[in-house]
Amino acid sequence: MSKGLYRLPGYKIVEELVNGNIAVEDYVHEVYERISRLDNYLKAYITLRSMDEVVRDVHRAVVEARRSPGKYKLAGLLVAVKDNIHVQGLRTTCASLMLEKYVAVYDATTVERVRRDGGIVVGKTNMDEFAMGSTGETSAYGATRNPWNPERVPGGSSSGTAVALAAGMATVGLGSDTGGSIRLPAAWTGLYGLKPTYGMVSRYGLVAYADSLEQIGPMARNIMDLALLYESMVGFDPRDSTSLNVDPSGYVEAVEQGYNEGGKGIRVALLEDFLEHPGVSANVKKTVTKVAERLSRQDVIVEPARLGKDLVDYGLPAYYVIAMAEASSNLARYDGVRYGPKEPPKPWESWNEYYSRIRAEKFGREVKIRVMLGSWILSAGYRDQYYVRALRLRRLIRNALLALLNKYDALLLPAAVTLPPRLGEVIDDPLKLYALDLATVIANLAGVPALVFPAEWVEGIPLGVQIVGRAGVEGEKVLFRVAAAHEAESGLRDLVAEPSIS
Ligand code: GLN
Repeated sequence: MSKGLYRLPGYKIVEELVNGNIAVEDYVHEVYERISRLDNYLKAYITLRSMDEVVRDVHRAVVEARRSPGKYKLAGLLVAVKDNIHVQGLRTTCASLMLEKYVAVYDATTVERVRRDGGIVVGKTNMDEFAMGSTGETSAYGATRNPWNPERVPGGSSSGTAVALAAGMATVGLGSDTGGSIRLPAAWTGLYGLKPTYGMVSRYGLVAYADSLEQIGPMARNIMDLALLYESMVGFDPRDSTSLNVDPSGYVEAVEQGYNEGGKGIRVALLEDFLEHPGVSANVKKTVTKVAERLSRQDVIVEPARLGKDLVDYGLPAYYVIAMAEASSNLARYDGVRYGPKEPPKPWESWNEYYSRIRAEKFGREVKIRVMLGSWILSAGYRDQYYVRALRLRRLIRNALLALLNKYDALLLPAAVTLPPRLGEVIDDPLKLYALDLATVIANLAGVPALVFPAEWVEGIPLGVQIVGRAGVEGEKVLFRVAAAHEAESGLRDLVAEPSIS
C-alpha cells in the first residue's frame, strides 16, 4: 500500500529518512512501483538502476547522515539525471543511436557533488537527441509523454527528468538548458526549474551541444527542493574553463525569506513585449498577468516595461544560428571511430564514406539538419552573413536585457508561449518547433539566470511562467525569493500527476 512517499517534498524525505520515520525500503519501493507501472507508457527513463542497488545506496547515505548531522543534505534523495550528463558506470546515450553503447567513465562535477551530499541517482532520463528539440520527440528511444495529458508533449529537451518528477518517479532531477530545455518542460509539467547564470555551474561531464549557451540546472516540485539541490551543485570547478570563481551560498535562506517576508523591496518588470506578441497565446498572457497580481500581493513592485519587439523577434534566429554553428563543431567527434559504434569500415569504403555512412545511420533527422546548417553557417562566404551577424544580435539583446536589469531586480515573462502541443503536432515543421523557444532563448543569449515556476491550471496543465534575473549569486537569490513568495501565495507546489493508463 502506498503511503504517498513518492509525492513528498525532498527536504521532508531527507529529514524523515534520517530520523527513521520513513523506512528506506518504503520510499524506494514506492518510487519504483510507479516507474514499473507508468514508465513503459510515459518513457521518462532510458537507463534505470536496479532497485536493490538503489536501496543499498540510500541506506548507506542515511547511515552517513546520522553519523554527521548537518552534512549530507540530500541524504537518500532519489535523483533523475538527464542522459547527456555523465554518471560513472551508466550509459550516456544523449537519446541518440550514436551513443547507444557509450558508458560514462567518470561523474560529471554536478553528479559528483550531488552524490557527495547523499543524493542517489535512480537512472538516466530521456531527452531530445543531443538536447536538440523542444518537445522530447527527437529522442531515438521514443517520445516522452506529458503525465498531465498523455496526448501532449511534456516539453524538451529535458523531457525525461521533467516527467520523472511530475509522475513521482524520482524526487528531484538534473536537466540542461541551452535555449530553454529546463524551463520549457518545467513550465508544461508543473515544476520548478532553474537555468543558472552562465558559468555558475560546472559543465564538466555534460555532453556539449552549444557551449556558449548552456548550463546544467536543477529541477524540483517545490522551490525549497530546488534551492537545496542547487546549493549542492553550484560553484567553481577548475575542470571547466568557463566556471566562475565564486563560492555561492544562501539560496535556502533566500527561499525562507520569500516565505516569511514575501518580496518587499523587490522591483520586477512585467515584459509587455510578450503580452502583445502574436506568437504568445491568450491563456499564457492571462497566466503571466495573474502572476503579476499575486506578486503584488506579496509586496513585490511590478511595473510594465519593454525590451523592444524587434529584439524579442531577433532572439530566435540569433539563437538558432549560434546554436547550430556550435553544434556542427561539437558533433564532429561522432564519426564512428572516436565515438560511435566503432565498427570497422567495409573493405570497399574510404574513410569519408565510412564517416558519412555512420553519421547518416546513427544521427536522427533534427541532428542532421543542425549539423548541415551549422557547417554552412560557418563556411567561408556565409560566416559574416550569418554567424557574425548573429553574434552582433546577441550583443544587442544582451545589452537591452542588462539595461532593464539595471533598473529592475528581475523580469517577468512567459516561459512557454503556448500550451504543450499534441504529440506529432509540430515535430515535422522546424519553424513551429523553434517558435516554442521565443521566450526562453534570450536568457541563454545574455548568460543571465532564469527560473520557472508553476502559475496556473490551464486545460489540465499546470502552466509555468518565467522570471529572469541579474547574473551572479545575488541576482539568483532574488529569483528564488520571488518564486518562494509566489509559491506561498499560489499554493502551487508538489504537483504529481496520476495518469490513468489503460
Ligand atoms: N529547443 C532549443 C534547441 O533545440 C533548446 C534546447 C536546449 O535547451 N537544449 O536548441
